[in-house]
Amino acid sequence: MKTICIFLLSMIMTQSHSQSKFQSDAFQTEMGELLISFVGHGTLMLQIGNTIIHIDPVSREADYNEMPEAVLILITHQHGDHLDMAATGKILKKETKLVLTQSCLDMLEMDDAIDFEVMRNGDIISLGEIKIEAIPAYNIEHKRSNGTAYHPKGEGNGYILNFGDFRVLVAGDTENIPEIKSLKNIDIAFLPMNLPYTMTPEMVADAAKSFKPKVLYPYHFGNTDTNELIVLMKECKQVEVRIREF
Ligand code: ZN
Ligand code: ZN
Repeated sequence: MKTICIFLLSMIMTQSHSQSKFQSDAFQTEMGELLISFVGHGTLMLQIGNTIIHIDPVSREADYNEMPEAVLILITHQHGDHLDMAATGKILKKETKLVLTQSCLDMLEMDDAIDFEVMRNGDIISLGEIKIEAIPAYNIEHKRSNGTAYHPKGEGNGYILNFGDFRVLVAGDTENIPEIKSLKNIDIAFLPMNLPYTMTPEMVADAAKSFKPKVLYPYHFGNTDTNELIVLMKECKQVEVRIREF
């Protein structure tokens, strides 16, 4: 018994230690406190109660040997800065649900033992009390030299996580598309802001002024100057812009 207690205690200590490496913000929801950790680039970790949700876990941003195991893993699309099965494998346990796109699945040899599910734009699933919506993520303007979009429509997902009526948007790699601009009742929004793959600060501001999340985090911003976004959003008092380390 004593051995088990020590083992559990060391696990808990490891978890809190690993999480403290990253900046995080806490929010009150009807399901309890939601902690969002900013792991880096397009990678996030959410915790509500004992439920750990990893979004786009990649080895480049964290040592996933030290990260807590996932109840849910969401992958937005197949690009290397979002899909990394080496990182994913380290936080995957038997009960973990892995949500990904068909474009991810096409690149993988998936083990039958893994509980995975492909979500397409528009799909909705529930995991316990948490409802997950997959929404489109694509480029309108930014294209490769051969004319194809960096992110073609229908390929990637953004995800809206509903913790009761508390709604968190993680937009994935996208531009200020109509499907985002028309969203309603978003509490927290993560919008990508780097060129040439995603949005300019002007595009992020355009989207945010339209659907007015309560809190806006630019993420996936590389070397983009986040001050540009702050200036653009200065008059829009309904949206609180938070800049965090990514
Ligand atoms: Zn991408
Ligand atoms: Zn990306």
